[in-house]
Amino acid sequence: MGELEGKSALITGASRGIGRAIALALAQQGARVAINYVASATAAEAVVAEVVAAGGEAVLVQGDVAVVEDAARIVKATVDAFGGLDILVNNAGITRDGLLMRMSEDDWDSVHNTNLRGAFLVTRAAMRPMLRARGGRIINVSSVVGVVGNPGQANYAAAKAGLIGFTRSVAREVASRGITVNAIAPGFIVTDITNAMNEAQVAAVMGQVPLGRMAQPEEVAPLVVFLASSGASYITGQCINVDGGMVMG
Ligand code: NAD
Repeated sequence: MGELEGKSALITGASRGIGRAIALALAQQGARVAINYVASATAAEAVVAEVVAAGGEAVLVQGDVAVVEDAARIVKATVDAFGGLDILVNNAGITRDGLLMRMSEDDWDSVHNTNLRGAFLVTRAAMRPMLRARGGRIINVSSVVGVVGNPGQANYAAAKAGLIGFTRSVAREVASRGITVNAIAPGFIVTDITNAMNEAQVAAVMGQVPLGRMAQPEEVAPLVVFLASSGASYITGQCINVDGGMVMG
């Protein structure tokens, strides 16, 4: 029996990259998973098919986390499908990089809307089923960039730092109800987001990573599985780095 047998999980932005790896890892531990996607239906369907082929249970939930009606519908669809919501992973995220002087309001707003407002809207919608169940696990995917900053990512770093403050505040609000809220801060992981980096950017980043390489999404997912498991029952309000040693202390 898997560690998460009988649990129901919603992973936002789970059609590819880190979200996909998290969904597959949670399902491997027995969780029933709702695969949220905004536009990539074919990729998201492939994730559902992969879970089902491995003997798991998965549903597809389309919706934009930054849209209030969609956020509520995404949570409702998960609860309708599985009878509750035990684990929420706020993973959906985008980048719109550029130096501050040239950054448009739209670059700022769109990154905040998906990375921060999206997490707020989906978490708010998830409160009712989790409070009713007197338990739950919320895991927010932040970034080391939100901890240490990065030139060209003022919008993204601000949103990811905001997500850490959000995590800590909500953790304090719901601790007495048996709900834990934590963040993870990945370093540089091989996904569509980092594939957009040029060689010079990759070389600069590698110089900051003691382990000397980028990670695969499958190296991030086990931490989420742990935070969702009974072994993490006394951990809340934390932000844990998965970054090859980029940030220490
Ligand atoms: P990715 O681009 O492969 O995946 C992002 C996912 O989010 C996609 O499935 C996309 O469709 C979805 N998404 C985007 N906007 C959405 C919206 N409005 N509503 C619903 N879904 C939406 O990138 P990734 O690297 O797998 O990123 C996953 C998370 O990890 C993001 O929050 C990202 O900021 C964070 N992160 C990534 C890295 C990295 O190095 N790749 C490092 C730190 C943090």
